[in-house]
Amino acid sequence: QPEKKAPLIPHPIKNLEVKHTKIFINNEWHPSESGRLFATHNPATGAQICEIEEGDKEDVDKAVEAAKAAFQRGSPWRQMDGSSRGRLLHKLADLVERDRVTLATLETMDTGKPFLQAFFIDLEGCIKTLRYYAGWADKIHGKALPVDDEFVCFTKHEPIGICGAIIPWNFPLLMLTWKVAPALCCGNTIVLKPAEQTPLTALYMGALVKEAGFPPGVVNIVPGFGPTAGAAISSHMDVDKVAFTGSTEVGKLIKEAAAKSNLKRVTLELGGKNPCIVYADADLDWAVDATQQGAFFNQGQCCTAAARIFVEECIYDEFIKRSVERAKRQVIGDPFDVKTAQGPQINQDQFDKIMELIDSGKREGAILEYGGSAIQDRGLFIQPTIFSGVGDHMRIAKEEIFGPVQCILKFRTQEEVITRANNTEYGLVAAVFTKSMDKALSTASALQSGTVWVNCYNALHVQTPFGGYKMSGNGRELGDYALAEYCEVKTVTMKLTQKSH
Ligand code: NAD
Repeated sequence: QPEKKAPLIPHPIKNLEVKHTKIFINNEWHPSESGRLFATHNPATGAQICEIEEGDKEDVDKAVEAAKAAFQRGSPWRQMDGSSRGRLLHKLADLVERDRVTLATLETMDTGKPFLQAFFIDLEGCIKTLRYYAGWADKIHGKALPVDDEFVCFTKHEPIGICGAIIPWNFPLLMLTWKVAPALCCGNTIVLKPAEQTPLTALYMGALVKEAGFPPGVVNIVPGFGPTAGAAISSHMDVDKVAFTGSTEVGKLIKEAAAKSNLKRVTLELGGKNPCIVYADADLDWAVDATQQGAFFNQGQCCTAAARIFVEECIYDEFIKRSVERAKRQVIGDPFDVKTAQGPQINQDQFDKIMELIDSGKREGAILEYGGSAIQDRGLFIQPTIFSGVGDHMRIAKEEIFGPVQCILKFRTQEEVITRANNTEYGLVAAVFTKSMDKALSTASALQSGTVWVNCYNALHVQTPFGGYKMSGNGRELGDYALAEYCEVKTVTMKLTQKSH
């Protein structure tokens, strides 16, 4: 069946009722063992959307039991052919397509991201990821290996088992899919904890998982907080792998918990302080556009945010002028309005952290070219902000801001800028803008970064691996590289009576 085309301009659902607020275990909805609930809010208005059952250790234990039973030898899931797993993933993608407007509406309510971005970017990525891994499900195989003496040897790629997933609030549905799709494709079972700020789309996906026909226990979703439900997953003795996206600080805790419990496999996708290098021969308007979009996209709440924009000296002043002109055109407002490009930050904590970092930039002597304040009487909305004259030692050049703040730095030579770009504990993504193939490739080779974009930004594709060097993480998501993160490799060696070639 060809992929359905999205309507030209979709409309969000008005007064959408939230149906799923409970814990999803064994394809059923459960109240929390503790009886506790927590509220989720709309960041654009501050209004409470609804209350959600708050999962804790006991609920995670229940979910892990279900995932374990579903992974038992001989279970319907373990006996299912790879091609059937692929069909189920396609079916899930069909259901997400059917309910695309509902999911995008829920995502905007819960995160404050502009509805059209949720619909066209988050939902598109989610559907493509499900379909991509649906296609892989019956193509996961080992090798036959020639070995010395009278042996025959082959490898099998087997599912790891019970996979924990702990995800953040900036791309709730997309991060869920990046973990769930490859895990299911390889035949694992899952216990997932959405971020406490944004549980709604994950729970809705629970309903779609059931409707698609996945056996009970294959996917379990436990909403709750990090130090309770999250820690219960990362330290669980029966969880075989945990995949995490979020802060570097919590990433360290996850790895520590894995080491202290059962040495479960760990993949981490953490922060970034991503450099963009704009050489003098770049297409200037395009570079201004792409780097600013990279800085402000999703209210700046991206691990891939264009955080340090290094501009060659001779175009530096003009680059700043054009960047300010572009920032003035940024439409900020109601995320459900189709004209809106920028919504509110996710919550008060993040808002305060961003405002404090903006103040530090002013105090440390960066030049405030534009913005720099909250938008009066609008709760969690922050002006798009541009600093120039940013020094490498300043906090705004070193710490992840996770807000709509663009930092522009000046450089003279290629050697200098590469050293400065790499001078960070992070290494997630980087970008280079130039018309010279030589410069593009030599810079791309020198940058210590999991992804380098040349003359583009945020050009993510489900077919290509994504992940970080250094403290930006461990392992890779997406592409066929992600399959290795969800499989164990088994070597089978057979002794024969004579040599076999
Ligand atoms: P976080 O790392 O605290 O939260 C991410 C997820 O981890 C959530 O589901 C949370 O409940 C869970 N978690 C928290 N503590 C845990 C623990 N001890 N054990 C297990 N799970 C735990 O991120 P945050 O507090 O929401 O945001 C703080 C900063 O993290 C942001 O300012 C930003 O710099 C960064 N961040 C990065 C990403 C990313 O995509 N890489 C996403 C969100 C936040």
